[in-house]
Amino acid sequence: MAIVVQKFGGTSVANAEKIKRAAQRVIQRVKEGYSVVVVASARGQQTDELIADAHELNPEPPERELDQLLSTGEIQSVSLFAMALHAEGHNAISFSGGQIRMMTDGVHTKARIKSIDASRIQKELDAGKVVLVAGFQGIDDDGNITTLGRGGSDTSAVALAAAMKAEECEIFTDVDGVYTTDPRIFKDAVKIDKISYDEMLEMASMGAGVMHSRSIELGKKCDVRIHVRNSGNENKGTIITSEEEAQMEEVVVSGATIQKDMAKIGLVNVDHKPGNAARVFSKLAEARVLVNDIIQTEVGPKKANLTFTVGSSDLKAAKKAIDDVRDTVGCEDIFVHDNIAEVSIIGVGMRSHYGIAEKMFTSLFKAGVNIDLITTSEIRISCVVEKKDAERALIAVCKAFDLDKPVGKRKKYPRK
Ligand code: ASP
Ligand code: MG
Repeated sequence: MAIVVQKFGGTSVANAEKIKRAAQRVIQRVKEGYSVVVVASARGQQTDELIADAHELNPEPPERELDQLLSTGEIQSVSLFAMALHAEGHNAISFSGGQIRMMTDGVHTKARIKSIDASRIQKELDAGKVVLVAGFQGIDDDGNITTLGRGGSDTSAVALAAAMKAEECEIFTDVDGVYTTDPRIFKDAVKIDKISYDEMLEMASMGAGVMHSRSIELGKKCDVRIHVRNSGNENKGTIITSEEEAQMEEVVVSGATIQKDMAKIGLVNVDHKPGNAARVFSKLAEARVLVNDIIQTEVGPKKANLTFTVGSSDLKAAKKAIDDVRDTVGCEDIFVHDNIAEVSIIGVGMRSHYGIAEKMFTSLFKAGVNIDLITTSEIRISCVVEKKDAERALIAVCKAFDLDKPVGKRKKYPRK
């Protein structure tokens, strides 16, 4: 029998009423003839509440105990969910991650999944049961409970879909899918029908807080079709899939993102010689600073300028690391700017079409936005701008690329 995995986020199982509604989504699939595996997150804000409980007793709770505690939130959700299904006359059985041998490494609070025992689940599905698995958790080789990092239930669901060779992994949430951009800033943003794994990963890393990034990486690696949809209605959501499938309509720019809390550090006139970039970034790595963009340009034969961006919360640590290393690399001046934001456009189509960068820069020019830094990947163009200009910049870019229109109604660009 074909298998479908259905994942319900915290808001979709927040109370009894919502669990009953979610149970109906499961029953609907059972009636269509599917074997159903359900993954649920902790109800509502429970994970945050448990973390607060932990900190009340210990400002630095041991991570093993934190994982042990947090895992209980998801266990409650799936056992309650199973009860709701039984009440509707459907046979269901719930498991913790450990019980289905969701094996992970031993890195508490951010463990990675190594393997899953599909046979245990298959046996229950074959017996006609709905199988419910607590998301966000696994177990290491020594039997310790681990968790996968905040938002990790998405990853549990995609990993299960891969292990069970499911037809689709449905991610139920409280919005209709993934939007071309943040509708709180650009209210005419439209739902994306299909998007490739790579585009979704870029969107996620550039500030679109849709899904746990690891879940998309895993989806790509294992070729899992992911369907992000609303638990409150029947609308088709967003399909995250292979590039071949996503690009049937030749979308050039799929979405635009904004990253607001950013800061920039520039090292002026660093000695232009081997090893200096390595020295700077090993100091930053030591300080555990996550660096976003790096730009180096040569200033004559002897000197270079080196600029990088970080999240605002890392600025202090980054500044300290740079102060420590500046003399070693012959840096003449340092400038720090913490009022910046980054606006990006993302689309695999920009590899094969002309005029995309020009369009973005022109739209910013017309909106009176000055571009500070520009960085690109193969499928992304990002502009760092002043924070005060950021929302205006995003809106201008969205309009330029018709991100308020259905795909078929957007401007065409010449093909390479
Ligand atoms: N309950 C966990 C969290 O709040 C995992 C999840 O929701 O996916 O991060
Ligand atoms: Mg979540």
